[in-house]
Amino acid sequence: MTMLSTNRNSNRVETTSIMKANRAVLQVVMAQQTSDGAGVNLKRSIGKHSLSELDPFLLLDEFRSDDPNDYIAGFPSHPHRGFETVTYMLAGSMQHQDSNGNTGNLTAGSVQWMTAGRGIIHSEMPQQEDGLMWGFQLWVNLPAKDKMCVPRYQDIPPADVQEYVLENNGLIRVIAGQSNGLEGPVKDVVTRPLYLDVRLPEQAQWTHPIPSHHTAFVYVFEGEGYFGKTETDPGRKISSSHLGILGRGDTLMVETGDHPVRFLLLAAQPLNEPIARYGPFVMNTRSEIEQAFQDYQNGRF
Ligand code: FE
Repeated sequence: MTMLSTNRNSNRVETTSIMKANRAVLQVVMAQQTSDGAGVNLKRSIGKHSLSELDPFLLLDEFRSDDPNDYIAGFPSHPHRGFETVTYMLAGSMQHQDSNGNTGNLTAGSVQWMTAGRGIIHSEMPQQEDGLMWGFQLWVNLPAKDKMCVPRYQDIPPADVQEYVLENNGLIRVIAGQSNGLEGPVKDVVTRPLYLDVRLPEQAQWTHPIPSHHTAFVYVFEGEGYFGKTETDPGRKISSSHLGILGRGDTLMVETGDHPVRFLLLAAQPLNEPIARYGPFVMNTRSEIEQAFQDYQNGRF
């Protein structure tokens, strides 16, 4: 008991100092080449054995190719239940269709935030026969109380993603959350995500706040930069196709040297709930997964 009461005080001090700290990079994970859908080649950084999840993030894929053989097969009809899928396009065009008759075109710079909830069956197929197809798919978990919610889409055209130009000519696209007084177009997501696409030129320094209780990571997809410098940590160099998991704190510091860098900064509230996962279904228990299969097979999606 003495230990507890003593620690309570020192914990408070420690928490305060953490609150004001820069976040360090705890671990750097290299994205792995894999294939999904009907044979789309992509790089996966979350959702594979070495990083199966980063609560509440369940998956991060980058698809980037100018060879149609890498993407033309697309993602034909498949179900989802229990989480959210987020597509962010940088180049190319995909057509989206679902079992409720919704349809939409995902073009360069656009975002689709789909809350699968209790269930959706959809397809994402390339709308091009050649040229560059480039983008990201992120999966964000839902808490138990929202896993069976009514499915919802937020289809965001490129023009609705506000951009902030930094003094050093860097550029921030604000997809979700807040940055430099701009508010992302994605609204009312239960895990309160921050989703930024950040470009920094060479010889630049950039600091950005991140809600202190959020899980956070960066994914570098062009160039390289030095991430996570703190009072006690020199920071880590992270280059293209690598993900950096950020430690606790409430800001991130990024510096560049001789190369520019472009990366995603993602943060969201962790759920701290059990995860039962099988393919396109992510629930809390194994029996809920079995129920998802039954519902899907019996046409209840
Ligand atoms: Fe999907």
